[in-house]
Amino acid sequence: MALSLLTPMFKVERDEELCIQCKVCMRQCVNGVHWYDEEEDRMRCDHKKCVGCHRCVVLCPTGALTVKKYPLEFRENAHWTLDYIRSIYLQAETGGILLTGMGNDRPYPVYWDHMVLNASQVTNPSIDPLREPMELKTYLGRKPKAVEIKNGKLAEKLPPQLELDVPIMFSAMSFGSISLNAVKSLAQAARETGTFFNTGEGGLHRDLYEYGANTIVQVASGRFGVDPDYLKAGAGIEIKIGQGAKPGIGGHLPGEKVGPEVSATRMIPLGSDAISPAPHHDIYSIEDLRQLIFSLKEATNYEKPVGVKIAAVHNVAAIASGIARAGADFVAIDGFRGGTGAAPLRTRDNVGIPIEFALAAVDERLRREGIRNEVSIVVGGSIRNSADVVKAIALGADAVYIGTAALIALGCHLCQKCNTGKCNWGIATQDPYLVKRLNPEIGARRAANLIRAWAHEIKELLGGMGINAIESLRGNRLMLRGIGLNEKELSILGIKAAGE
Ligand code: SF4
Ligand code: SF4
Ligand code: SF4
Repeated sequence: MALSLLTPMFKVERDEELCIQCKVCMRQCVNGVHWYDEEEDRMRCDHKKCVGCHRCVVLCPTGALTVKKYPLEFRENAHWTLDYIRSIYLQAETGGILLTGMGNDRPYPVYWDHMVLNASQVTNPSIDPLREPMELKTYLGRKPKAVEIKNGKLAEKLPPQLELDVPIMFSAMSFGSISLNAVKSLAQAARETGTFFNTGEGGLHRDLYEYGANTIVQVASGRFGVDPDYLKAGAGIEIKIGQGAKPGIGGHLPGEKVGPEVSATRMIPLGSDAISPAPHHDIYSIEDLRQLIFSLKEATNYEKPVGVKIAAVHNVAAIASGIARAGADFVAIDGFRGGTGAAPLRTRDNVGIPIEFALAAVDERLRREGIRNEVSIVVGGSIRNSADVVKAIALGADAVYIGTAALIALGCHLCQKCNTGKCNWGIATQDPYLVKRLNPEIGARRAANLIRAWAHEIKELLGGMGINAIESLRGNRLMLRGIGLNEKELSILGIKAAGE
């Protein structure tokens, strides 16, 4: 076998004084890093296989393990970084595309961190959310330009809406890319917190039909698992055109992940590759998109909102305007940091634009065209905490999707190896041995706790601004100021600089 030039990425250090040779680490690491040396009667490591998922570190009963970056010094070179050198070694060995999981990790600016929120002082007094009612209720769907009230009631029937108790939903993650226990955790958490999870393009497993009232069912280019029962099972429908982690390309779930349950749920043969084409083969224009939107509405008796998910790309505002005019009830925009089960590394890291710019541009364009009320805006692809949610809403979003944050709540340690199917935390895997590592009851509790914690923090931030309803913050960019941004960036975001 030819010599590999690849060096380890991580170094696993074991404190021999603390190690009791229980072999927990050996059983827990699916990558086979730890092994027992019978001759020397001690545990050993194969550092090269470590992906830095921390499973062994967390579960070692004596705290004997530490994982560090492998100390490998190249001559200082700002252009040829270790990542690029490793990529070339790997491609020279395999001749293949580099694949990865999770979102873009390049050091592009994070614009959420260049925006700060306002707070009331003296005038417009702040509100104490512990003492006064605060409203986070959010409705997603088309709104009429004006409403008529007769006898204290709405005179006309509103278009179908999704009702959220908090403006946060779990973004599309398919059964197949993540385990059934992970999907169940999110479904249960969505029900407990009055929000929604999204099936992604993998269909709806029969065990999840009971969560229909908290489900958005997705229709993607592969049409996996789509039939009338599926469409009717959800509270809303989302047509997936694009994804922030891999705009412009489709998906590929390898046959080894298509076991009996994934096969039945996706309605594809056992063990076959699930290929999602890059485009929908029946959509080549906004008119074609309109046909699909109305076919789905027709199929569900016009009782469910139908949205369209796109990746944040250069002309996102014009596309969103077309989507609104095509009759969509909501547009979901996925920024270039959005996560994925598997994506080509170069696409993930180099295609698309930050969600902050995409959101500001879309909201501004829809307002300018007088059609903002016709479509709700949902954004995802980088929301890390409650302050990001509040900033997104002040920039113009109606609600946000969280994906990576939700998986971190379930135990993900961002090792970015989701594409291998060997997730030590039982999340991005279909391996029957590994999936048992995520207990859906515990997962649901953790994901629901995250939503509740963020809801409390959002109320605190709103109260500080003297606002008692999230509705009053939507698109209120006066509540934002920019720090460290140039004139052009401030102008695209539509905000003033701090101090102005
Ligand atoms: S889990 Fe910890 S104590 Fe057990 S063998 Fe591994 S390093 Fe030693
Ligand atoms: S891959 Fe994960 S479980 Fe295995 S040694 Fe590395 S950190 Fe530990
Ligand atoms: S889901 Fe699993 S494989 Fe993917 S980044 Fe998280 S811990 Fe790693």
